[in-house]
Amino acid sequence: MADDALIRLGIFFTILAVMIGWEHAFPARQLPTTKTAPTKTTRLIGNFGIVFISGLSARLALPLGLTGFALYCTEQQWGLFNLVQLPGWLTITFSLLLLDMLIYWQHRLFHKVPLLWQLHKVHHADLHVDASTGLRFHPLEIVASLFIKAIAIMTLGIPAYAVILFEVLLNGFALFNHANIRLPKKVEKITRLILMTQILHRIHHSQLFKESNSNYGFSVIWWDRLFGSYSAQATKPDLEIDIGITEFPDAKDNANLWGLLTMPFKHKK
Ligand SMILES: [Zn+2]
Repeated sequence: MADDALIRLGIFFTILAVMIGWEHAFPARQLPTTKTAPTKTTRLIGNFGIVFISGLSARLALPLGLTGFALYCTEQQWGLFNLVQLPGWLTITFSLLLLDMLIYWQHRLFHKVPLLWQLHKVHHADLHVDASTGLRFHPLEIVASLFIKAIAIMTLGIPAYAVILFEVLLNGFALFNHANIRLPKKVEKITRLILMTQILHRIHHSQLFKESNSNYGFSVIWWDRLFGSYSAQATKPDLEIDIGITEFPDAKDNANLWGLLTMPFKHKK
């Protein structure tokens, strides 16, 4: 188990380093420089600060972690895949697909239900999108998501190795599609047939309601295509999309660490 955590962290930091390096070498967009926009430092302390606190909260909420919990469920023989014996490769395929679809619907739910939006808006209030945005979620959203995933693991009987693989992929894709980069045109055109690309995901971070209510997927694009939330193009070109939410224009609210932690309990217009 300790090895597994080390490998996961290793993969995570490798992808993070690659994305940060790529963003620095070839940034797709610049951080806004309006009077109220945050400085690079404030924003990064806020984003990485909340990642740290959210990680700690998840550890406290479920000390076993999702992998430990999946092992426990297997021991108890709980869930569908523990009752119906399928070949290993089929169990892993179904597990990854079902978990990914669940995350897609969970994301839609966090946009639809006002109480959940209060948590998810912390992610969307970022005026810029880069790899750090992909990790910036309020601790309460992380804990809520943890319990939703735990319920799915328990009812479906998802094996621990599938949970590990899913978590590695989900984190990796979140870093990839939030990165402040732009794939070469031809590569992007092919990639978007399968995956959520950076250009597509920036549409989801648009200030326009109808645009942010599209492209919910974190990895594959199929769920948005299948469930009618796919958007191929925003009203404005990629470089000019107004990113963020208008409710919190000031850096002290949308970037400062304390501002981020208290945002769900504040309403502004
Ligand atoms: Zn969202």
